Amino acid sequence: MTCEEFQMADLDGGLTAEEGPLQQAARQHLLECPHCAALHENWQVLRTDLHALAQKLGKLKRPLAWNCAFGRNFASNTRP
Ligand SMILES: [Zn+2]
Repeated sequence: MTCEEFQMADLDGGLTAEEGPLQQAARQHLLECPHCAALHENWQVLRTDLHALAQKLGKLKRPLAWNCAFGRNFASNTRP
């Protein structure tokens, strides 16, 4: 497997039970290629951060929507 092929393989899909030949080859490449191993590790960290960020945004969603509605009502009530 080449580095390009590795990048096309979806290693985030799941666990070993559902892995096809492509994922197995990708895991093998991960063991043999320090470059892709580093990229994969960075991606795992980034993915975790993105997940945490998404959760934070999800929690912020309601107050932001409420603030917008409040702002609209305030603006419409203060117009002549
Ligand atoms: Zn590689």
